[in-house]
Amino acid sequence: MTVSAPPSVETLFSDALKRRLVDLRRDVHQHPELSFREHGTADRLALALADVGVADVTRVANTGIVARIPGRRRGGPVVAVRGDIDALPIQEATGLPFASTVPGVMHACGHDVHATWAVGAAALLVANPAESDVLVVLQPAEETGKGALAILETGALNGVSAIFGGHVDRRFSVGQVVADEGPLAASADTFEIEIVGAGAHAARPHESHDPIVAAAAVISALQSIVSRRLNPATPGVVTVGSIHAGSAPNIIPDRALLTGTVRAVEPVSRELMLSEVKRVAESTAAAFGVEARVVLDRGTPPIVNPSKPITWAREACASTIGEGNLVPLGFLNLAGEDFAHYMESIPGCFLRIGARESGATVIPAHAPTFYAAEQSIFVGAAVLAECARVASEALSRN
Ligand SMILES: [Zn+2]
Ligand SMILES: [Zn+2]
Repeated sequence: MTVSAPPSVETLFSDALKRRLVDLRRDVHQHPELSFREHGTADRLALALADVGVADVTRVANTGIVARIPGRRRGGPVVAVRGDIDALPIQEATGLPFASTVPGVMHACGHDVHATWAVGAAALLVANPAESDVLVVLQPAEETGKGALAILETGALNGVSAIFGGHVDRRFSVGQVVADEGPLAASADTFEIEIVGAGAHAARPHESHDPIVAAAAVISALQSIVSRRLNPATPGVVTVGSIHAGSAPNIIPDRALLTGTVRAVEPVSRELMLSEVKRVAESTAAAFGVEARVVLDRGTPPIVNPSKPITWAREACASTIGEGNLVPLGFLNLAGEDFAHYMESIPGCFLRIGARESGATVIPAHAPTFYAAEQSIFVGAAVLAECARVASEALSRN
């Protein structure tokens, strides 16, 4: 299937650079590595950055890279562009000629393309620099929600004035970009509820404090958080994703373990749902004469794109892909994205970059058949490089 990026984007890349980026993407796709194990990927990306003329390349957080592309002037506000680089524990079933050569590991979330468009953005910024320096961040371990924090902890982004990132999305055609103000990704927190009762013979329940019956009641009661406690005008999810208890039909066990996830896009909803998970679990368990020990593990915050960086991104999109290719998100997807960690301390925004060939089907990310259309490399690179230039110029004027 042939597909092309908007002509205005194509002209930004020489044929040699296009070939280099396509080869890089295929190579990264063929050799996927799991979170925080991206050693080969990082080596390959460091070489690719050097090949496109980036002199200042630093390895950070073990398998991450921060590359500095000098601006036209020294000392101004620094802007960053981020691409994530890790793969997933999934057996690839795309049938692509450059499919994964690693059994059980594949780039099922398109981070092979994100890594490549970050290198592409670096190449464009070397050729046509921003007002001041731009950092290109190649981030490990997005899928575990830990990579952005690892990069931030190194201090490599201290003092950065704005940061931009994006994700491939096959709900949108190549050439289309979503740069909406407001919510784009949900918070992704997890919980573990250990229900501790007292075991007994299954024929003598009165001698037990049955954690299984209590667990069933807790699961049902948790459903009332979204239906009865959350403002229906705001999205939220409480899912119990695993339940483990018992070993035989004639034994009442002494404990049950539930784990699950909470998703929200507004901080108030997030706090409400987390505190309600604890309250509902503890009080329901108490009603059954057992104890619920609740552990909440806070994951990534939501992404809510603020107005100013989105204005810069929309301006960048208008001059690269054309204003007509800016499309609304439509229905919000409540997946998490660890780019949110950067946005807690650095102004920035996150884009969805169309990655479906015309006439092709929507394939969900994390499916064994998922891949991003090759031409989305050029749209991502062009848009993110231009975001950096627009932000750099606007911030330098202040
Ligand atoms: Zn993913
Ligand atoms: Zn992803």
